[in-house]
Amino acid sequence: MLKTQGYVAHNADTPLVPFSFERREPLANDVQIEILYCGVCHSDIHQVRNEWGNASFPMVPGHEIIGKVTALGGAVTDFKIGETVGVGCLVDSCRTCPDCQDHLEQFCNAPTFTYNSEDQISGGNTYGGYSTQVVVDRHFVLHVSDKLDPAAAAPLLCAGITTYSPLKHWKIGKGHKVGIVGLGGLGHMGVKFARAMGAHVVLFTTSANKVEDAKRIGAHEVVISKDDEAMQQHRLSFDFILNTVAAAHNLDSFTELLKRDGTLCLVGVPDHPHPSPSVGNLIFKRRQIAGSLIGGIKETQEMLDFCAEHNIVSDIETIPMQQINEAYERMLKSDVKYRFVIDLASLKN
Ligand code: NAP
Ligand code: ZN
Ligand code: ZN
Repeated sequence: MLKTQGYVAHNADTPLVPFSFERREPLANDVQIEILYCGVCHSDIHQVRNEWGNASFPMVPGHEIIGKVTALGGAVTDFKIGETVGVGCLVDSCRTCPDCQDHLEQFCNAPTFTYNSEDQISGGNTYGGYSTQVVVDRHFVLHVSDKLDPAAAAPLLCAGITTYSPLKHWKIGKGHKVGIVGLGGLGHMGVKFARAMGAHVVLFTTSANKVEDAKRIGAHEVVISKDDEAMQQHRLSFDFILNTVAAAHNLDSFTELLKRDGTLCLVGVPDHPHPSPSVGNLIFKRRQIAGSLIGGIKETQEMLDFCAEHNIVSDIETIPMQQINEAYERMLKSDVKYRFVIDLASLKN
């Protein structure tokens, strides 16, 4: 067994603390990875605080993993020792259902998430990337180009794919007007991708102090979503709006900005439901409210390759593992530009 150091939540109410545990030795199809960096997703906070009601403790969070391959199972031929790799939100799925066959493992009825999930192979719970190493089946390991800064690439594994996938699914490109709601970890990646895909990008924020950053990151326009007059100027003009906000809020103020047949796609997962949207707002212009969940493994590789080609990474603030509890408090105040990334060297001395 592989001795591993990490940080753990023992329950929903107390801070994360140091934790020693063991990972399996690599099986035939496994890749053993020394973790270098792990991004801090708002989903980590929702889960360690049991805001979605599905928490299983002890919980080692983290699903934006970048590392180096340190060992390979005997049947693995497509990875090399020393290569930079990534692991996102999934470490296994059934492989046979229609969703898995269509490379949409995120919709499998029996997925294994990277943490807070039943570990079908080793037993117990899966433990995530707030740790020094991980062992993952090769199908769920991604190749990461050396062109990308490894720390800034970590958030691509969740924030990146979660915003790239819906923009691709709704075929966003030149000539489209796209809104991104919320300039956080997901939102700032959404701005970068929508811009790189050729859309006209409008960022909606509740934080007046983010306007200049949003433009630097790639937004053509920025709207303070609390300013009703500014919102009204965009009525009936959007093809697509991607909503990344992590809290319940009124969706009508965004659906009314859509053109006929426009789509408001939700990726934020608040702990309380949004107030019911107006049916009138939807039926009169045949507008849709949709949702999207991360992305499949094939598409995650495509997204990473797109990032290498377009030189896209996340804007990050690197922290040692020991500062994770303070980082959560700062994220809740929207005080991060725009993703915390843990440097796991802080656990290895
Ligand atoms: P984040 O970095 O904390 O960003 C969320 C942003 O939402 C904030 O920066 C803020 O932007 C905006 N916001 C406005 N009002 C808020 C409020 N009352 N509370 C919190 N945020 C508020 O979070 P994230 O990591 O991007 O994640 C966003 C959401 O997506 C979370 O719910 C997360 O669980 C979910 N998620 C979903 C998927 C999926 O597959 N669907 C994947 C990953 C994450 P402004 O300051 O610009 O207003
Ligand atoms: Zn995430
Ligand atoms: Zn499946």
